[in-house]
Amino acid sequence: MVSTPDAATAGRPRGRSAVAVPELVEKARTGDPRSVGRLISLVEDESPLLREVMALLAPHSGRARIVGITGSPGVGKSTTTSALITELRGAGQRVGVLAIDPSSPFSGGALLGDRVRMQDHATDRDVFIRSMASRGHLGGLSWSTPQAMRVLDASGFDTIVVETVGVGQSEVEIAGLADTTIVLLAPGMGDGIQAAKAGILEIGDLYVINKADRDGASTVRRDLRGALALSQRPEGAWKPPILMTTAQNGEGLAEVVTAIDEHHAWLESTGELLRRRTRRAREEIEAIALTALRQRWGGISDRRTELDTLAARVAGGASDPWAAADELLATHLE
Ligand code: GDP
Repeated sequence: MVSTPDAATAGRPRGRSAVAVPELVEKARTGDPRSVGRLISLVEDESPLLREVMALLAPHSGRARIVGITGSPGVGKSTTTSALITELRGAGQRVGVLAIDPSSPFSGGALLGDRVRMQDHATDRDVFIRSMASRGHLGGLSWSTPQAMRVLDASGFDTIVVETVGVGQSEVEIAGLADTTIVLLAPGMGDGIQAAKAGILEIGDLYVINKADRDGASTVRRDLRGALALSQRPEGAWKPPILMTTAQNGEGLAEVVTAIDEHHAWLESTGELLRRRTRRAREEIEAIALTALRQRWGGISDRRTELDTLAARVAGGASDPWAAADELLATHLE
């Protein structure tokens, strides 16, 4: 059995009262924002109640479209997400947004500050926006984000936008989580040169050049088009379109929604949607299992004794790392 986080503390931090999980799940499924928020808090708190939550949510998931948005700070991700919400709401969709900040230790729906543009949607019951830090105690982005996505999916949101800052590994991780990954670029940010370096040429299903109202937008498009033409994509693969937007006034967002629809239709018709979702589930299982395993030998808590003892022996030459790893696994895998 996969072990759960420390039962002594998880599930009731921040002074929350006891939670009746079935009731909470039922309320979330009727679209009650508070209940949806509480379920996502259980994910953030790494609560042992998650086992029950996920079992109840499972039969209701798999319907939502997952759209990932990534790009360097300042390209206009928040502005674009907000404009995308407006467009999707216009089409009658319910929209969930997870804004992942890989550098922030803060979480808990901190929507002020840089998320201020999304406040336009703050009073809309059919829009749920949540900031999440990805540096939890457990497996980071790969542990918490898919579970938060599941909560929104089972709560009846039609599209879930997962927005993340394109730094380090996060943009590659987001591509693993999303059905459709949008890479956002903008003029004046040196993105043409950055593109090749950051590995974004492989991950985009759609490329959007925002700030089309600014000088240099067409140069970014030309550079990107050239770079994409040189990048290797397998035969029969999706050919990512390049779109232009001025997110500030919503221009070009209707075309972005059309492109998302077209990509989704392609994913369905080729069987790629199922492949991507199966791959995502695989990573999710792996993240939970590896995290549980690490917890057993105390690698991510204060109970480090066993791993520490082995480490001291390896460092002192009394054992080698392979033998020590065997010992660790033998003790914890039975
Ligand atoms: P993020 O850091 O990628 O989330 O970027 P933001 O959405 O916070 O936007 C960064 C800055 O670019 C803000 O000052 C926005 O007002 C501005 N911005 C966003 N979209 C556009 C646009 O289409 N045109 C122009 N000129 N500025 C924009």
